[in-house]
Amino acid sequence: MSIYLDYNASAPIDPRVLDVMIDVYRNSPGNADSRTHDFGDHARTIVENARKQVAELLGIRPDEVFFTSGATESNNIAIQGLQEYAETCGKKHIITTGIEHKAVLETCKVMQKRGFEVDFVNPDESGCILPEQILRLVRDDTLLVSIQHVNNETGCIQPIKEIGEALSGKEVLFHTDATQSCGKLVEELRSIKYNMLSFSAHKLSGPQGIGVLVLRKKKYKLPPIKPIMFGGPQEKGISPGTVPVALVAGCGKACELASVEYKTNEAKTKKIRDEMLCLLGESGIDYKINGSQERMVPSTLNICFPGIMSEALMLATKQFCSISNGSACNSKSYEPSYVLRAMGLPDDRIECSVRVSWGRKSELASIKEHFEALLNVVRELA
Ligand code: PMP
Repeated sequence: MSIYLDYNASAPIDPRVLDVMIDVYRNSPGNADSRTHDFGDHARTIVENARKQVAELLGIRPDEVFFTSGATESNNIAIQGLQEYAETCGKKHIITTGIEHKAVLETCKVMQKRGFEVDFVNPDESGCILPEQILRLVRDDTLLVSIQHVNNETGCIQPIKEIGEALSGKEVLFHTDATQSCGKLVEELRSIKYNMLSFSAHKLSGPQGIGVLVLRKKKYKLPPIKPIMFGGPQEKGISPGTVPVALVAGCGKACELASVEYKTNEAKTKKIRDEMLCLLGESGIDYKINGSQERMVPSTLNICFPGIMSEALMLATKQFCSISNGSACNSKSYEPSYVLRAMGLPDDRIECSVRVSWGRKSELASIKEHFEALLNVVRELA
C-alpha cells in the first residue's frame, strides 16, 4: 500500500468533518441567502456556526471571517481588492517575498503591470526572511506587505509576528497567507497583528474548495477591500455566489477539531520528524535538509540527496510513497523549484531535493517502514 506523504499539497479529510458535511448534503438543501423559508434559515444557521468555529480557532470575531473558494481566491481579493483604495490614496507600493505561493506572487506581478511597484524579498539559505529585510523597504507610499506564515515547500516559519508588530503602528496594510500554518501554529497565529489572513480548509483536514479571508476590523472598520468579482451580496459582496453550505460546515468543523487537537497533532508530527531524521542520520546516506530546522514546522522536510535527481527518486518510489518536489500547483512543470532558487541554492542541489510532508493521520510505524524503503531506493540510485 502506498503511503501518503504530501500533506502540504492536501491533507486527507477527517472522517468527523465528512460526517458533518454528509449530514448537511442529506438534510439541509437550502440556500443560506434565502429569506423566505425555514430551509434558508437553517442553512444560514449552519454557515454562521461555522463562522464562529473559524473565529474561535483564530481568536477573532465571527464578522471578520469571509468564506471564499480557497486561499487562492482569498489572496487575490486581499491584493487586487485594494486597487481602488490605492488609486484614491496614491499608495502603490507593495512588499512581498520571492517564496510566496503563486497565488500571491502572480497576483503581485499583475499589480506590477497595473502600475504598482512591488519589492520581492528573498531569504538566504535558511529559507527565512529577516524582519529588517522587509521593514527597511517600507515607505510613505507603501500600501501592503504580504508575507506567508509558513512556506509550503520547506515548512520554514517566517517572522510575521515581528513584522506585524512593527507594522501595526504604521499606515500599511499587512496580509499573511497562513495556508500552511492555520490549525497548526494556533497560539502564534492568535497573537499576530495582521489586517488580512488567508487559508484553505483542505490543509487542515477540511474539504477542498473552501477557504477563508479574514479581514480584521480596526476602529470598527474593515480594511478598504473592494470585491474583485461581482454578481451577488454573499459574504458582504467580498466573495459573491451561492455559499457552499456543506463545504463551509466542513471548514468550520475542521477548525473546531484543530482548536481542540492542535497540541496532540503537533506532538505526533514531531515524533514522526524525529524518527525520519534518526533514520536519515543512521542510514549513512549523504543528505541535506533545505531550510533552517530551528524555524520549521514539524510536519515538513525538504531533503536533498546529492546526486540523486528528484524526478528519478519520485518515479522509483511512486508505487509505495507519494512525495513531491515542490508545490502541487507547479508539479506539472519540470522547472526547478522557484522557492529553493530564491533561497540561493544551486540548481544541482534543487534538482536533487524532495518534499516530504505528513500530518495527524500519519502512522509512525507505517512512515518508518516506507521511509526506510525510500532510503533503500536512494542507495540503489546512488
Ligand atoms: N498558499 C499556500 C501557502 C499554499 O500552500 C496553497 C496550496 N498549495 C495555496 C496558497 C493555495 O490554496 P488553494 O489551492 O486551496 O487555493
